[in-house]
Amino acid sequence: MDDCIAIRGARQHNLRNLDLDLPLHTWITVTGVSGSGKSSLAFDTIYAEGQRRYVETFSPYARQFLDRMDKPQADRIDGIPPAIAIDQTNPVRSSRSTVGTMSELNDHLKLVFARLARLYCRSCGRLVQRDTPETIVEQLLRAVEPGAAPPTIRILFTVEVPDNFTADEVAGFLRQQGYDRIQRQAGRRFEVIQDRLRLEPGRRGRLTESLEAALSRGQGRITVCRESAAGEPGEPLRFSTGLHCAACDIAYRDPTPSLFSFNSPIGACPTCRGFGRTIGIDYGLVIPDDRLSLEGGAIKPFQTPSYAECRADLLKAARRRGLDTRRPWRELSDADREWVLQGQGMDAWERGEWYGVKGFFDWLESKSYKMHIRVLLSRYRAYGLCPACGGARLKPEALWWKIGDPEPRSIRDLMQMPLGRCLEFFKTLVLPASHDEAARQLLGEIRTRLGYLVEVGLDYLTLDRQSRTLSGGEVQRINLTTALGTSLVNTLFVLDEPSI
Ligand SMILES: [Zn+2]
Ligand SMILES: [Zn+2]
Repeated sequence: MDDCIAIRGARQHNLRNLDLDLPLHTWITVTGVSGSGKSSLAFDTIYAEGQRRYVETFSPYARQFLDRMDKPQADRIDGIPPAIAIDQTNPVRSSRSTVGTMSELNDHLKLVFARLARLYCRSCGRLVQRDTPETIVEQLLRAVEPGAAPPTIRILFTVEVPDNFTADEVAGFLRQQGYDRIQRQAGRRFEVIQDRLRLEPGRRGRLTESLEAALSRGQGRITVCRESAAGEPGEPLRFSTGLHCAACDIAYRDPTPSLFSFNSPIGACPTCRGFGRTIGIDYGLVIPDDRLSLEGGAIKPFQTPSYAECRADLLKAARRRGLDTRRPWRELSDADREWVLQGQGMDAWERGEWYGVKGFFDWLESKSYKMHIRVLLSRYRAYGLCPACGGARLKPEALWWKIGDPEPRSIRDLMQMPLGRCLEFFKTLVLPASHDEAARQLLGEIRTRLGYLVEVGLDYLTLDRQSRTLSGGEVQRINLTTALGTSLVNTLFVLDEPSI
């Protein structure tokens, strides 16, 4: 038979001379009581042989890098395809591994963001777009009130006087090139009038030409002013061909895929290095019982004989401050508590002032080469959300880029969305008219992979969920979708006790 896996005389472990024909291209479930040989058949015989034959196809040099399994005990096994085993063990311990990295969706998302995301200004929140002469013409013409007389506009560009020239010399150069109308000179900056014309649809050609010339002279940045009836220039409208918010005068850089990856130094938040969490002193552990007063021992690390001196320093400074040292911690004012924890600023210890519980821990940190200090510190340390990125793991600029319309989403928004909703988002995402073939393929790939994850019942997980917090069954199902996502054909998948 050609279309089946033929096993003859399998004797692996407790199998007793088993003969079996397994049809291809179908699901096969092996059931039985514990110890009946299910795993011996599925893993140690079928998977082992598929894996062994696959590895044999590589050169001897390549083979040394691959896991090789022992030849299973059997008379013969025929018709076996390359095999992939998906088991329930969760070997992941790194907090850099998430559902997104495991399923390879993060790799696809960063490419999609680098290609399709649009930038929103960090200051005004408006969409930052590259202006072209054509888009500027459209915008200017649209702003003319219908029926009103066409206004006169000025198209201006700015010239900075270079260090090795005088302002007069530059004015001379400009005149030589036909630019004799300067609207304003502010210091070493000229606002030069490129053109002055009536804003009429019939003049589209000249308008476009003048805008092109001004953009090229002004290094991609121009302003357009409407003249009042008296011929005075009005509010300037700014335009830019770069990634530049003309309204806020903030320039941005083009994104690269690495900007959207917390496993790359380019994208990772510099404070937490992409972990999303930082380790610090947990004051809840320092003051475990807020019913205690300072005298009654509220600050736990000061209650041992080794640090009795710190306790005395605190009580002395507190009395000087007029703080009631017998009052329970929870009844102290916020300002007093802040004072106890933060102290009186830099060099407080040298000045004989209160250095704060924080100063105490900073001093301990400097002594952490000593074993017993490290042990002490570890008792009061805890992981908390990174204060710089708030757990997003990425640099702030990565989050200014968003995809989707009318509700644009950052990569962080998508990572926090349940996979089911994430799939809906990508299903309804409309590619911009200017998209390329690669973007279309990427989007298809993301939809397929998200679709698999939802189909295996993981719609409730999020992409930023840490792999090490997943159950064995969840890990197995994600691994299955990742293998399916590679679109391998004619492959044998062997699953160990799949969960429902
Ligand atoms: Zn802005
Ligand atoms: Zn961070």
